[in-house]
Amino acid sequence: MILQKAAQNTLTILLFISLFSCETEPIEKTELNPSPEQKIFEINVVVHIIHNGEAIGTGPNLSDDRIAKQIESLNNDFRRKAGTRGFNSNPISDDARIQFKLAQTDPEGNPTNGIVRINSQEVNNPLEAWGFDYFANFNYWDYKRYVNIWTAPFPESGIDVYLGEATGPDTDLPGNELFSGGEPFYAEGIIINHAHFGESDIESDYNLGRTLTHEMGHYLGLLHPWGGKDCDNNDYCDDTPAVDTFVSGCTSFKGCNQEDVMIENYMNWTSDICMNTFTNNQIERMRYVLTHSRKSLVDTAN
Ligand SMILES: [Zn+2]
Repeated sequence: MILQKAAQNTLTILLFISLFSCETEPIEKTELNPSPEQKIFEINVVVHIIHNGEAIGTGPNLSDDRIAKQIESLNNDFRRKAGTRGFNSNPISDDARIQFKLAQTDPEGNPTNGIVRINSQEVNNPLEAWGFDYFANFNYWDYKRYVNIWTAPFPESGIDVYLGEATGPDTDLPGNELFSGGEPFYAEGIIINHAHFGESDIESDYNLGRTLTHEMGHYLGLLHPWGGKDCDNNDYCDDTPAVDTFVSGCTSFKGCNQEDVMIENYMNWTSDICMNTFTNNQIERMRYVLTHSRKSLVDTAN
């Protein structure tokens, strides 16, 4: 369990996520008539690239190709796609049946590629502290129709110090009060350090684009497996082994009840290379959020 101190300190900043429940209604599956729970949900995302005037493809001004590949690997993970890093054959895991696409229509109805590039040097941002509202001042689309993702122009010294963060859904599931605030108080979305967005060759355990998979999990209602660091109340998912401390690196260890922690779970802080699993309870929880508080993201009319 090795996590650099700097990273460890700031990883705690990242995730304001907390207790919340996986206890949803049981899913009934039939082959002939897929239940609503079996439906594939498709979510539009917009990636706001916040840069400092660099050329496209340089530094924080990430290339279209890198962005497209990040969305592709996000889908590989959520769809547990065979032949990709996102596949696993664990019987307590599944295809989450949630997928993402770069928006093709902007909020005004105009065609878009789902990528918005903003030179932060040309915008007079009234806020100074980096956070959801700060980034939303550069650009923000209706959170009811799109998932807003901002890539933040951290300097190289920010690698492994800040990975990302997400606002939590306003849900009726237990633990909602422990999520970071979203609308109506703060802008909703996901912030990712540009260096950790998509696959790259940076020297980091977080260079395969799994930061977005993890933060999207939070955005859709998942907690860290250790939740509030309590063996009895952690992530409220019965199929993730209980653990009361954060999980990083790639080496498993015994959690509560002398069970091995699920090192491969996307909701840990484990290295990108070791992750490939959402459990069935986690999937139920995300789909519950997408049929309740974040339902408008998957409405057909959207
Ligand atoms: Zn997290």
